[in-house]
Amino acid sequence: MRVAVLGAGLQGACVALELAEVGIAVDLYDREDACLTQASAQNEGKIHLGYVFGNDRTLNTARLMIRGAAVFEPTLRRWLGTDLDRVPVSAPFHYVVHRDSLLAADEVGDHLAACHALAAGEFPAAAGYFGSDPHRAPQRLTDAERDAVFGTRTVAAAFRTAEIALDPEALSVLLRARLLAEPRITVHLGTEVRAVEPDGDRLRVRFDVGGGLASECYDHVVNCLWDGRLGVDATMGQRPDRPWLFRIKHYLRVCAPGQGAQIPSTTIVLGPFGDVVVHGDDLYLSWYPAGRQGISAELEPPPWPRVLDEFQAKELWHDVLGGLVGVVPALEDLTPSTVSSWSARGGIIFAWGSSDIDDPGSGLHQRSAIGPQSHGTYHSVDTGKLTMAPLFGAQVTDRIRATGRAR
Ligand SMILES: Cc1cc2nc3c(=O)[nH]c(=O)nc-3n(C[C@H](O)[C@H](O)[C@H](O)COP(=O)(O)OP(=O)(O)OC[C@H]3O[C@@H](n4cnc5c(N)ncnc54)[C@H](O)[C@@H]3O)c2cc1C
Repeated sequence: MRVAVLGAGLQGACVALELAEVGIAVDLYDREDACLTQASAQNEGKIHLGYVFGNDRTLNTARLMIRGAAVFEPTLRRWLGTDLDRVPVSAPFHYVVHRDSLLAADEVGDHLAACHALAAGEFPAAAGYFGSDPHRAPQRLTDAERDAVFGTRTVAAAFRTAEIALDPEALSVLLRARLLAEPRITVHLGTEVRAVEPDGDRLRVRFDVGGGLASECYDHVVNCLWDGRLGVDATMGQRPDRPWLFRIKHYLRVCAPGQGAQIPSTTIVLGPFGDVVVHGDDLYLSWYPAGRQGISAELEPPPWPRVLDEFQAKELWHDVLGGLVGVVPALEDLTPSTVSSWSARGGIIFAWGSSDIDDPGSGLHQRSAIGPQSHGTYHSVDTGKLTMAPLFGAQVTDRIRATGRAR
């Protein structure tokens, strides 16, 4: 059987490694010159326990994220073994309710408690969650505890949780090497996928390699192209039946020796706020109004610059810190000259919905309509969140094994 996996982000990597593990050879394609350089390397790395999806009152998003989180570590450990322990894990997050939150503090508290109850049923005790305990109940800080750490004028309530984030760049480095070492996976880089079309009882994938056109036939094709996914689906005659948005979000990565211990990992809910992720002395800092620099409802997003020039980067620093310091005062002492290094980076987010996250009805708050869609032997995977890639990788592999055709 010949299988093509299009897109070598975490989703494509998970599909390819699952297929290889059950003895199926894979051609893995990406237009970049290395695997895992795009959204999967350029994100916050949170392995979601559902807490941030408080505006999905059905709890469907939370339930799905918890299922994804429950298989994340065991799956990655199967492929990376003890190397996985080299990936930095953040301090557990505080969830902080902003005074302008779309949900009141008590509503957030109820949602966290509901997620905790779901974890009891959906997260096997032995699964492993990077050294944190997903069964630990979120705890509301007393007013004195809250005011000792968070901004009194902006923060209505704060909760201690067990949720963590991984350093996605470190994970990407390990997976890149693992993909290249796997004998059943052939990686084709610098290869832009243009189209997929039926060819008899197989599928033909058309590529642009260094300006020249080429094509190959496969028994199954798995589209894991993220920002390129809808465009290639359209060449198979498949168009979304709902509104969608691509957004580019820029953030800061900062190395601040000796300062990390005083800074809490923080997610500010619910609305257009931000996050602080602390991995030792390395920080991820985002503030949504400053970082969300582009939005598009086209089939393919425009060629947004992922790297900012020096002026834009300094402006981002100013605006991100300006937003975060009111919530996390411990960031006050950070300046470009007091840290040892910093950079501004960006990644693309795809989600079903319209308007933006300050609108409770935008649809962006529901992330449960994601995962693999199969039309015969063509499978298109909306990863939705990094958290979900291992679970969806296993689901696609099951489908291919169930319908697969041996040649
Ligand atoms: C700033 C930010 C923060 C985020 N935070 C979190 C978080 O904390 N937790 C979480 O769970 N999720 C988070 N996400 C979402 C998460 O990053 C994505 O859901 C996930 O990485 C998508 O994985 P992927 O493999 O589908 O996409 P990608 O990693 O983008 O992989 C797609 C690959 O396809 C390639 N490609 C695209 N089009 C073509 C084409 N035509 N031809 C050839 N190759 C092509 C690209 O080069 C890329 O390598 C965040 C995203 C961003 C941007």
